[in-house]
Amino acid sequence: MKKEIFLCAINNILSGTCNEDCKFCTQSVRYHADIERYNYKSIDTIVQEAKKAKSYGALGYCLVTAGKGLDDKKVDFVARTAQAIKAEVENLNLIACNGTASVEQLRYLKEHGIDSYNHNLETSEAYYPSICTTHNWSERYETCQNAKSVGLQLCSGGIFGMGESAEDRTSLLNAIASLNPESTPLNFYHPNKALPIKTRNISQDEAVIIVQRARKLLGDDKLLMVAGGRELLFDGSEELMFEAGANAMVIGNYLTTVGDAPQKDKKMLERLGYGVATTCHE
Ligand code: SF4
Repeated sequence: MKKEIFLCAINNILSGTCNEDCKFCTQSVRYHADIERYNYKSIDTIVQEAKKAKSYGALGYCLVTAGKGLDDKKVDFVARTAQAIKAEVENLNLIACNGTASVEQLRYLKEHGIDSYNHNLETSEAYYPSICTTHNWSERYETCQNAKSVGLQLCSGGIFGMGESAEDRTSLLNAIASLNPESTPLNFYHPNKALPIKTRNISQDEAVIIVQRARKLLGDDKLLMVAGGRELLFDGSEELMFEAGANAMVIGNYLTTVGDAPQKDKKMLERLGYGVATTCHE
């Protein structure tokens, strides 16, 4: 049977206004990166964009807000957005990605139509203080546990190539696996001249090994996604990441970087002989 690839799309519904100092993130206001910054998008616009993503084959739709975590206003906005999308678009797994979140906030999102919560561990616990000083790794781990505790599916992964060591990579993969997430995005660092981390210390061969190790640790029934940085490391050789165990990818743009056009990705999948998954629960 043809291997099927799960497609996910991201919508940055509140962009570029975060006071934290994550050294890999163009949305931190500290680094003055040249990105589009805006307050809440209109819910109508988000619904139209969700319909479009669905028409391109997206099964997962991720609602992302910049900032360290949820507050009352954001919870309310994400919940209303989720309800509006669910009312108009069928068979779309809604993922919220809104940073640190309490059990109560996550329960509220679940009650209003959110299916999954995305919160990445980003890097190993030991390396985390080198990439962020304004909050800590254990808070991240706790939010992931909170999401699971209210029955949300957990989507959790990290970023590779930010100057971490081989031990950090192993530690990150083990920590992700210890959460037993339903899906795991593997991101590969995309350097930006405004950011403190200037270069990416990961090769394509190393990225392939990370995908293989992640697949082995997470199990065959989980979604393993190559997300940010795919175009930098696997452009024209996407078969390497799928053969290594990836079975999902992000289509369209990332948070603040431009991705391949969905039509180009579809052609790539056809050329490689892969199908596009039409349901999350087979
Ligand atoms: S908390 Fe999130 S939005 Fe803010 S700087 Fe860190 S990664 Fe970026």
